[in-house]
Amino acid sequence: MATATIAPHPDINNPIAPRLKCCCCGERFEGRQFHNQDTGWGLGDCCVEIVKPHADEEMESTYGVPGVHYKLDPVVMVRTIEAPNHRTEWRITQNLSDRWGEINRSDAEHKPLELLECTLGLYDRLRTQMFDEDTFVVRKDAAWGILFEVEFCCIESEAGEVDPNDPWFLKLPGYYEQVTRLINSMKAIAGQFPSVQFAVPEPVHVYRERPAAWAFVAHALLSNEQRMALGHALQAL
Ligand SMILES: [Zn+2]
Repeated sequence: MATATIAPHPDINNPIAPRLKCCCCGERFEGRQFHNQDTGWGLGDCCVEIVKPHADEEMESTYGVPGVHYKLDPVVMVRTIEAPNHRTEWRITQNLSDRWGEINRSDAEHKPLELLECTLGLYDRLRTQMFDEDTFVVRKDAAWGILFEVEFCCIESEAGEVDPNDPWFLKLPGYYEQVTRLINSMKAIAGQFPSVQFAVPEPVHVYRERPAAWAFVAHALLSNEQRMALGHALQAL
């Protein structure tokens, strides 16, 4: 069992190299330079599983850290509260758990589940930080944490699902109007939750392509009370 490495690796602040060469097979991959590898080279995602059984204890000192140097978290496009008019890349592996706290094994080959489950006590500690049915265990920029996701309705997401003359439906905002409102409302509460990262994801990531308020809370960043306050604040946006 690995011990829980919760502190972020300092290399996470280095730029991502889009075309490192895999030291095993020569394939190009996206990662970060590790100091024990020749410049321009590293362990490609392609060969991690091949190398792992042989490297064993030496894995980290030879090739670096998954999520930091190789097997980076995937790109998700969002609008952050800092730059709401642009699409920003978040590196986040979503849905490591479902919203009730069970490990979500769908698409398991693209998730760091082994690391999550083999790190003693990590998953249990993350699970205790979940809120209501509005959070998921995730990893963002190689940091474990909790993603709050509160969905909101708009005309586009509910069209065809309800009676078009329903007064509730007739009062719904359009998608972009709802997103703008969410961004502005999150900006207003962000000061109460320093270091929490707020965004609205591209609709493809949300059930029925609804506008959603996202807040990423790194492991143990907030106290229980603060997490409850954040959850209630997001639900009340
Ligand atoms: Zn390779």
